[in-house]
Amino acid sequence: MRNKLFLSTLIIVIVTLLLSSFSIILVIRDQFSHYLTKNAQTTLAQWPERLSNLYLTKGSWDIPSLESVSHYLPMDTQITLTDSNGNIIHTLKNPMQDMMRDGMMGMKMGMNFPVQNWTTKTEPITTPLGTIAFAEFRYPTSARIINPEDVTFMTAIFQSLLVAGAIALLIGTLLTLWTSQRLSYPLRNLTKAVNRVGQGNLDERVHIESNDEVGELASAFNSMAQSLKQQEHLRKQFTVDIAHELRTPLTSMRSYIEAFQDGVLPANNENLQALNEEIHRLVSLVTDLKDLNVAEIGELKPKIGPVDLVYLLDKVILNLRPLIEEKRLSVELDSSNSSLLIDGDEYLLTRLFYNLIHNAYKYSNPEGKIKVSVTNQQENVVINVIDYGIGISQEDIPYIFERFYRTDKSRNRETGGTGIGLALVHQIVKLHKGHIKVQSKQDEGSSFSVTLPIVHQK
Ligand code: ADP
Repeated sequence: MRNKLFLSTLIIVIVTLLLSSFSIILVIRDQFSHYLTKNAQTTLAQWPERLSNLYLTKGSWDIPSLESVSHYLPMDTQITLTDSNGNIIHTLKNPMQDMMRDGMMGMKMGMNFPVQNWTTKTEPITTPLGTIAFAEFRYPTSARIINPEDVTFMTAIFQSLLVAGAIALLIGTLLTLWTSQRLSYPLRNLTKAVNRVGQGNLDERVHIESNDEVGELASAFNSMAQSLKQQEHLRKQFTVDIAHELRTPLTSMRSYIEAFQDGVLPANNENLQALNEEIHRLVSLVTDLKDLNVAEIGELKPKIGPVDLVYLLDKVILNLRPLIEEKRLSVELDSSNSSLLIDGDEYLLTRLFYNLIHNAYKYSNPEGKIKVSVTNQQENVVINVIDYGIGISQEDIPYIFERFYRTDKSRNRETGGTGIGLALVHQIVKLHKGHIKVQSKQDEGSSFSVTLPIVHQK
C-alpha cells in the first residue's frame, strides 16, 4: 500500500508539474509574441514617412540606401515597393532574418515554427508632390521569437521554470514519501495488532495518533479488543457461576436423598416438596439459559395473545411469596385498574417480571420494601419494579443487560445468580417491541421501568 500510495501521488505530482509548466510556457510565449507583434506594428507605422524622406533626400529610389535601412525592419517583415503602374521597385527585408531563422537559438527553443498567418497592408508613399509609390507590408499576424535578445529572454524564463520544476519535483517526492510513510505506518501497526488479537492476545491495543479515518479505525479496533476481552472474562466467570448455581441445588438434592436413604428424614410430602423446589430451580435455570440462546439467535417466537398484566404480576408475586416472607420483605402492587389487557406472550412476560421481581427480592436488604406499579399511558403500559436494596453503580448500569454480567457487589453478597436473567429480560422486551430503562443508586435501590405497547405490532 505504501508503494502504491507513493507511486500514485508521485505520478500526480509529475503530471501536475508537466501540465502547469507546459501551460505557463504557452501563455508566456503567446503573450510575448503578442507584445512583439504590437511592437512591429508600431515600427511599421513609421515606415511610409521614412521611405518618403529617403526618396526626397536622393530625389529618386536609391537601392543601396533602401538596403541600408532594411536592417531596421522587424524580423519576418517584408516591404514590397511598387510604382503607380504596379512595377516592383524593390523588396525590403531584414538581412539578419534568414540567418536567424535557421539559427541554433530559435531551433533550440522550439520557436522556429513556420509562420502560419500573414497580414498584408498596402500604404501609399507620399511627398508634397503627390503619391510616388505604394508599399505593401507583409508581416506575421503573430510574431515569431527569433531575435537573439528575445530568444535569450525566453531561454532565461525556461531555465528558471526548469529549476523551479526540478525543486518542486524534489519537494513533491520527499513530501509524498513522508505522507505515504505516515499513512501506512499506523495501518501496518494495526495489522500487527489484529494478528496478535487473532492469536488470542486480547490485551493488544494500538496507539491512536490522529483524528482522521485511520484514528477512527484504531479506536474501533481498541473498543473491539476491549469488548472481546470483556466477553472472554464474562465467559470464564460464567462457567464458574453456572457451576456454582448447578452445584447448590444438586448438593441439596443429594443431601435429601441420602437422608431419605439413611432414614434420617422421612420421604413425606413436605420433604418431597422441598426436593421438588430444588429441581424446579434447576429446570428454570436451564430454561433461562436455553431461552436466552434461542432469543439471541432470533429463534424465540412469541405466542401473542391477550394477557392481563395485573393478574400476571399478582401471580408472580404470589409465586415468590415464600422467599419474600423468608426475608421479611413487604411487596406493594399498585395499579389504577383491576385488570389491564395487552397483546403478549404470557409465558415470556411471566419470565420477564419473575426475573425483575426476583432480582428485587435478591438484592433487597432484609425487611426491605418492593414496589410494583402498572400505569396505562395512551398506547403503552409502563411497569415499574422498584426496590430499596444494594443498588447498581453508574459504571455497571450500561452492562447489566449483557449476558453473564454481574456486578462485584452482587457477587460479594453471594445471592447466587448467573447474569442471564436481565439478558433474557432484555430479549423478551425486544420481542414485544417495548423498551426497558433502569435508574439506580448504589446502596439506595433500583428502579426498572418496562414500557410495552398495548397492541402488538408485527
Ligand atoms: P443475576 O442472576 O446475577 O441476578 P441478572 O442478569 O438478573 O443476573 O442481573 C445482572 C446483574 O445486575 C446482577 O448480578 C446484579 O449485579 C445486577 N442487578 C440486577 N438487578 C438488580 C437489582 N434489583 N438491584 C441491584 N443489582 C441488580
